[in-house]
Amino acid sequence: MADSSFDLVVIGGGIAGLTAAALAARSGARVFLAEHHNVPGGCAAFYQREGYRFDVGATVVNGFGERGIHRRVFEALGARVDAAPLDLAMMVHLPGKRIARYGDERWRAERIAAFGERYEPFWQRQERIADRVWNFAARLPSLPADLASATHLARIFRARDFAMLPLQGRSLASLLPRDTSPTLRSFIDLQLLITAQSPALATDLAFGAAALDIAREGTFHLDGGIATIATALARSIRHFGGTIAYRTDVTRMRTERGRFTGIELADGRAISAPNGVAAIPYENLLLLLGRSPDPRARTRQRWSAVTAYVGVEAGALPDDLPLHHQVLLDERAPLGEANSIFVSLSAANERGRARNGGRAITLSTHSDPERWENAYRNGGIASLQREYAGRMLAGLERATGKRLTPAFFELGTPHTFERYTLRYRGFVGGTPQRMESANLRARSHRSGIEGLTLCGDTIFPGQSTVGVTLSAINALRPFGISLPASSRSARRAAGRPVSDAASPLALRATIP
Ligand SMILES: Cc1cc2nc3c(=O)[nH]c(=O)nc-3n(C[C@H](O)[C@H](O)[C@H](O)COP(=O)(O)OP(=O)(O)OC[C@H]3O[C@@H](n4cnc5c(N)ncnc54)[C@H](O)[C@@H]3O)c2cc1C
Repeated sequence: MADSSFDLVVIGGGIAGLTAAALAARSGARVFLAEHHNVPGGCAAFYQREGYRFDVGATVVNGFGERGIHRRVFEALGARVDAAPLDLAMMVHLPGKRIARYGDERWRAERIAAFGERYEPFWQRQERIADRVWNFAARLPSLPADLASATHLARIFRARDFAMLPLQGRSLASLLPRDTSPTLRSFIDLQLLITAQSPALATDLAFGAAALDIAREGTFHLDGGIATIATALARSIRHFGGTIAYRTDVTRMRTERGRFTGIELADGRAISAPNGVAAIPYENLLLLLGRSPDPRARTRQRWSAVTAYVGVEAGALPDDLPLHHQVLLDERAPLGEANSIFVSLSAANERGRARNGGRAITLSTHSDPERWENAYRNGGIASLQREYAGRMLAGLERATGKRLTPAFFELGTPHTFERYTLRYRGFVGGTPQRMESANLRARSHRSGIEGLTLCGDTIFPGQSTVGVTLSAINALRPFGISLPASSRSARRAAGRPVSDAASPLALRATIP
């Protein structure tokens, strides 16, 4: 078996793994990243067909504001990514009602018009809690608060953060009046489904308040779609001398007396390194360690997704249509399963996204993978695909106000995610942020194996490109690598110098 050695191996080239590899390579480490697919990005990657370039899963870009974590990472890497703020984060379409999710003062007037003045105390409390959470998050916390993280937490904790402690164990729904209207409940559950993967009654209050706040925190457009984050990170890794091996599956994790020693690849190679970052779902990690995922774990993932990729010709849609829409078809039916649908369009005239000036559209809906596993077993897959395709197109019609004739159409199922990202059973979106699984009760970046840390959307703080970026930074800290404060904006973000602002320690200086 051919063998080679590096300072650090990273398993998985989604946003978490790419961020960890890029920051480590920048600090001088010799990095090897193994990625199953032939492009970077995982759930936030792109694919190209017949002249269209689609975002595969994630579409909504956050993290490029003043204190945005992507912005800070790219500044530290010396890489330029131009992010244009969106005027409107998304349009939400409830049956008989459209609600514009503005990030500025227009949101107050919009919510009062949609739900009435009586819910103002709820919205104001939600925003106050979210402000505290964003402020804390800008100091790059690592949770749960175990002994090993104590020094870092002690450095970043401020007296005002104590106000967040009583929020533990409470749900977002506990902020709402008992007799909240069904329309407002639907709206909140709908929004939380895409940002927390669970409804208001179950969602952790601190996480839920911030999850309802992403429009205020800032939503952006990137030329090329959200996958531009991944391609820019991959460029940085190469720039700093790191190695990315695409179409490369890690099949086994090597350990010796409880210490990480390297990985084995499907092509027979072995890569040895004293340190590793597993940037794959926790269930996948267990499989690499020869263990079975526990279906009862409170931090278990629950959702997969069905996606539809639609290409339309030039002129099919007005240029000024909002880029993101969330649609609820039937208020009485459960969310997900092509009853709630997320719709994202490439911008009008965006270069390289759609042939002849057309538009590339990604639609997605939450789905239970078991439904699809059963359909594969029972031979019912074609009719299930037809059913979902029909409802997804009905969602597109609701979002755009037009019955479109797609020039291109393709459906993705949980099986597609499993195939292209290897995610166990096609589970995506990370751990639902329920009271029993968020923040202090989240899964830590520590693996229990010396030299091996974890990141990605099943590790604190959870899903989204922003969330997994924080998890990647946390996964490097035990190796002596921290996010350098390279900009005034980063310092302004937390209202003081960023606590781990010391110049990054060279990995080789801290790892024997
Ligand atoms: C439909 C959908 C919509 C979403 N919408 C948004 C959104 O709008 N905005 C947002 O911010 N987030 C969104 N998310 C969530 C976001 O995409 C994810 O939380 C985030 O991208 C996960 O990144 P990750 O690096 O943790 O995991 P992944 O993206 O899953 O990356 C893991 C990588 O590891 C690789 N891999 C796995 N096993 C192995 C192995 N054994 N060997 C080698 N490689 C391996 C995979 O190929 C994959 O590339 C969405 C997700 C989905 C599915």
